[in-house]
Amino acid sequence: MLLTIENTRKGEDARELGYLLQKHPDRLQSFELAFGQCHIFYPEASNERCRAALLLEIDPVKLVRGSGGKSKGDAPLAQYVNDRPYVASSLMSVALGKVFRSAMNGQCKDMPQLAETALPLTIELSAVPVKGGEPFLQAVFEPLGYEVEAERLPLDERFSEWGESRLFQIRLKTDAKLKDVLNHLYVLIPVLDREKHYYVGAEEIEKLLRRGEQWLKDHPLSQVIATRYLRNKKSLAALALERLAESENEKQNGDEGESGTANDATAQNTAGTEKSVGQEEALEKKLSLNEVRMDTVVERLKDLGVRRVADLGCGEGKLLSRLVHDFFFQEIVGMDVSIRSLEIAERRLKLDRMPERKAQRLKLLHGSLMYRDSRLNNFDAATCIEVIEHLDVPRLNAFEKVVFGQARPSYVLITTPNREYNKLFESLEEGRFRHSDHRFEWSRAEFRSWSKDICQRFGYSVDYFDVGTADPELGPPTQMGVFCRGD
Ligand code: SAH
Repeated sequence: MLLTIENTRKGEDARELGYLLQKHPDRLQSFELAFGQCHIFYPEASNERCRAALLLEIDPVKLVRGSGGKSKGDAPLAQYVNDRPYVASSLMSVALGKVFRSAMNGQCKDMPQLAETALPLTIELSAVPVKGGEPFLQAVFEPLGYEVEAERLPLDERFSEWGESRLFQIRLKTDAKLKDVLNHLYVLIPVLDREKHYYVGAEEIEKLLRRGEQWLKDHPLSQVIATRYLRNKKSLAALALERLAESENEKQNGDEGESGTANDATAQNTAGTEKSVGQEEALEKKLSLNEVRMDTVVERLKDLGVRRVADLGCGEGKLLSRLVHDFFFQEIVGMDVSIRSLEIAERRLKLDRMPERKAQRLKLLHGSLMYRDSRLNNFDAATCIEVIEHLDVPRLNAFEKVVFGQARPSYVLITTPNREYNKLFESLEEGRFRHSDHRFEWSRAEFRSWSKDICQRFGYSVDYFDVGTADPELGPPTQMGVFCRGD
């Protein structure tokens, strides 16, 4: 478990980082913690570039004996055999709070003004489990002014066919005061992981309030962050946000304390908090349905032994990103009618910075599914993930001819919303579509009758799969048809 912080301030001695952290760049220092050891050293300490590293060595036995023992609770062996020693989690926060406490509090004995100076900083975390993947990382860090780069790590580098792990290597870049960065990391590392190692009680609220005081209230995901930090205890999260809002009111109202205005404002904020719980839950659900959708598609492609895939209507490249990081897939094409989406995909995938061997497997194409396109010939499979519902019904015919009639891959995987499930989205008015650009949303029967017709006309057979957890009556949130060419 390794965290590095790099300073590259121009025109100054970058080794100033040592004063801020109160750790000398030329010395290795080790600290004993309740659950292991923590080492601070500088892999690089020149005048131009100074990088401090915090290496956490966790002792699984100490971890179980200490206050963290209950966290892995159910299975006795899981207490000893788990990924905690290798990944950054809330233990990293504990270590940060111990070894960089003064920096976190904005104190710098020798150069006090330095603590108040924004520095060009790059933070790297070697392996962090992230629930919600890259979209969640971006949603959490970008509003705080970070540039986020994340790469999902393979389960085992020697066996790419094993696929990806849930761990990410993360790089964050920003121009900010070190104390702000440390406070962000303290709160957000355990939030990414979602699994805190010790019991979360009321005292955790104090830590969250203290470390999040300057920024949490205005963060668009404040509710999700507070809820995850407090280990999904909604009541505690609501209380924390309410208190943050309250302290803000107190500041604004001077020292009036219990005055009528302050109380009214607090009441409104509480109502706001409840409302935002709903919104954030919806967002979390959406993020996770997306993830589940991509997982389901990748799993199916692998089961079918598909190595050459064309993702039609690839959008911003969510599926492409999964495929390109997995060397099981040898040739990948992403096609979309929207240049803007393709540009975003290109940026997100960081094709320009990808090793040649990896990048050359992927091509992005601008094109429309309404027109015959020989570039789509000779693929093992085509995927159309949440695309058909964006096409006008009278134009579906052209789509069918292009994909099933002309490109004719061995397999076509199509996902689309299941309209019946919409009843379960509380915020969706009856009769409305999930997205304003949807031209239709089909029930399971409608999707099946369309699919059957395609099979008859183009010589394919079809199997149906649920995406997401199915309701016993209304079915899954997303439906998937896997078409297999007959010859
Ligand atoms: N598959 C992506 C994007 C789904 S949104 C994902 O799951 O994230 C639908 C996508 O279909 C949009 O990116 C839109 O630009 C694309 N699209 C719509 N009509 C299209 C057409 N005629 N040809 C190609 N792409 C189209």
